[in-house]
Amino acid sequence: MSAIIIDGKQTAANYRNELKDKISNYNSQEVPVLAVVSVGDDPASKVYVRTKQKFAQEVGMGCEVIELADSIGENALLEIIDELNDNHHINGIIVQLPLPKHINTLKVLSHINPSKDVDGFTPYNTGLLSYNDPRGFISATPKGILELLKSTAVDLKGKHAVVIGRSNIVGKPIAMLLLNQDCTVTVTHSKTENLETIVKTADIVIAACGRAKMVKASWIKEGAIIIDVGINRVDGKLCGDVDFDEVKEKASFITPVPGGVGPMTVAMLLSNTFEAFCKQQDHHDCHCHHKNCKCH
Ligand code: NAD
Repeated sequence: MSAIIIDGKQTAANYRNELKDKISNYNSQEVPVLAVVSVGDDPASKVYVRTKQKFAQEVGMGCEVIELADSIGENALLEIIDELNDNHHINGIIVQLPLPKHINTLKVLSHINPSKDVDGFTPYNTGLLSYNDPRGFISATPKGILELLKSTAVDLKGKHAVVIGRSNIVGKPIAMLLLNQDCTVTVTHSKTENLETIVKTADIVIAACGRAKMVKASWIKEGAIIIDVGINRVDGKLCGDVDFDEVKEKASFITPVPGGVGPMTVAMLLSNTFEAFCKQQDHHDCHCHHKNCKCH
């Protein structure tokens, strides 16, 4: 039987509509503003930035794109982050990755004020995720994946999830998030031996390795849920890390590429920005002197 296709495009559109309502009903003179720092002119990055800008505007959010030359020095970039951290009109800050080689990515990401870190990449927010502490921002792609899994209404508890990829932006945080959902998680990567055998034991497969159509039907347990994070271009066409046409005949649920995880990532980024805005507004409105109030 063919799998149910998880419609990320529609789910994301529903999210954005809800967010638009929340923003327009929010009792404030200000609107949430996201700052996107974009270094260099990688064409793929430019497309992602434009998409974020378009959807931010659609939901009634401001989006300021700070475009910087590839040659910018690390200190100059840190100064720009400082300015954004101090600017009360900016609620969320993201730095478009990858950064040029001469810049230390961790140093730059760590410089973002955690309360504006809507990508959830600062060590502070990744630390809160590992403690399963809801105060932190969960990075957008893993958060979107979890929403898509929840949309299947399948109980995640005790399920064996195999994550293919261990990057800081996808593999590791989704593994942690699934662990927090009581899944049994196996994280695999490019040095993993017998990958196919491990994937065959999965109830849930998260493919995030950036290898076009690598995951084949023969790797999949009948009825598994497949989330394909990969974005690859083959002969000018987008495809995921999963061989969609053959795997969909074995899986119970599967995300397509495009139209699966990608749109959810942007929706979750905007949702995090709204969350940051609300928290910051509370702080502004409060001005209290109570030691235990959240404004301190
Ligand atoms: P990355 O290159 O940082 O990490 C890839 C990971 O895959 C590494 O941990 C590596 O060990 C592992 N890997 C590579 N080859 C492998 C193999 N043959 N077998 C097993 N593991 C292997 O990539 P990333 O930033 O994590 O992104 C992964 C993919 O997801 C890319 O295609 C990227 O474009 C896509 N992506 C999509 C979204 C989205 O919103 N849809 C967001 C982020 C990344």
